[in-house]
Amino acid sequence: MGEECMCELEKSCAFFQSAEGFSKVIQAVRRTLCSTDPKNCARYIVHKKLGPEDVPEHLFPCDIIQAERIVHDESPEIKAG
Ligand code: SF4
Repeated sequence: MGEECMCELEKSCAFFQSAEGFSKVIQAVRRTLCSTDPKNCARYIVHKKLGPEDVPEHLFPCDIIQAERIVHDESPEIKAG
């Protein structure tokens, strides 16, 4: 397929590793965020702020809001009201 990844987390990123053979949407994310703009990836942000162990396996790269909640230690499960 020959898609270059410029993200330094490529080797350890569960999303990237599991994207092989998955949906076109996921592969499109690889081609955009992973290849051109990793600093705007939710997984990248959490990894850099908190460390690899705090990146949820299911965190979608486009979910910046969730990433912000995680780095600010706001549990998304506990919502008032
Ligand atoms: S999903 Fe994010 S952290 Fe993972 S390889 Fe792509 S840009 Fe990097």
